[in-house]
Amino acid sequence: MNLKSLTQTELAEVFKNMGQPAFRAGQVYGWLQKGIYGYDEMTNVPKSLRTVLEERYPLCPPKVVRRQESKKDGTIKYLWQLHDGNCVETVLMRYHYGNTVCISTEVGCRMGCAFCASTLGGLVRKLEPFEMLDQVAFTQRDSGLPISHIVLMGIGEPLDNFDNVMRFLELVNSEQGLNISMRHISLSTCGLVPKIDQLAAKKLQLTLSVSLHAPNDEIRRTIMPVSRAYPIEELLDACRRYYAATSRRISFEYAMIQGVNDRPQDARELIRRLKGLPAHFNLIPLNHVEESPLKPSTRADVAAFQKLLEDGGIPATVRRTLGGDIDASCGQLRRKYTKQKAEQ
Ligand code: SAH
Repeated sequence: MNLKSLTQTELAEVFKNMGQPAFRAGQVYGWLQKGIYGYDEMTNVPKSLRTVLEERYPLCPPKVVRRQESKKDGTIKYLWQLHDGNCVETVLMRYHYGNTVCISTEVGCRMGCAFCASTLGGLVRKLEPFEMLDQVAFTQRDSGLPISHIVLMGIGEPLDNFDNVMRFLELVNSEQGLNISMRHISLSTCGLVPKIDQLAAKKLQLTLSVSLHAPNDEIRRTIMPVSRAYPIEELLDACRRYYAATSRRISFEYAMIQGVNDRPQDARELIRRLKGLPAHFNLIPLNHVEESPLKPSTRADVAAFQKLLEDGGIPATVRRTLGGDIDASCGQLRRKYTKQKAEQ
């Protein structure tokens, strides 16, 4: 067990059982949530207690194995090594509304999307709550930049690691912790319908991002295996239920792939299908992945697609690509690193 995965109430219980005063748990919780490399950083905690904690509950902070900073836009990408040797990525993006971290939720992924580098080696394991928390805390600490927003859009499928992700959200949202507002958090999913309903039932004020990437099952099945389990109509119904439960507009991600999903008729089909569902589209020109034959749409096609959606009543933005010079999209850095290691 890692103490950093415990809520403040649970930590208080542990401290009570150790015969420690209640205020101590509050102090320690704050330190743990902030990201520390060793218990000796807890300067207001007695040394004797720090020694006991050190022995019983190793902190296991992540180690930076690669850090790349974009010269163009200040985006910083971290490749962390976890305590068991596995690696995950975190990206820090500097938007006008605040510094945003994109965190990983699993080591690898088992969803198999055809365009995504994260899934190439399959799923290795799910991340523990503290391993997600540490990505935020240590990115903030290393960069010295205050983090105000989080997107769960790195390596992995967050809803495939549901319980750990829910616990992470509780931690990162806690007042004595990093205190990041739910409204500043986006969770992205490839479309696991029963889990979307489970999330809706929690009525959190976070933004649900759905990786749609196609207007129909015929196209979606060629790039996203998950659509065989959950057809697009079922997925959109789940989005409607999510909206009914939370009043939060759904954000759809749409990676634009040349000749696959970027034709005018695709935009028109989306408009028909999404009727009545408050939504916003994020159009992302595909990031080319070495191992894949898929290519990004042209700028002109992306612009035309955006205009069609907007004219059809669907707000759509073309996502500015940040960190293009540092392999900042999903899973690319980890992929490169593990390949290099294998070749050595
Ligand atoms: N598993 C979750 C979150 C991680 S991926 C999901 O599927 O939503 C974050 C987003 O990046 C998803 O929309 C995903 O489809 C997209 N993505 C993955 N590889 C990409 C690539 N090469 N180019 C553009 N977008 C990509």
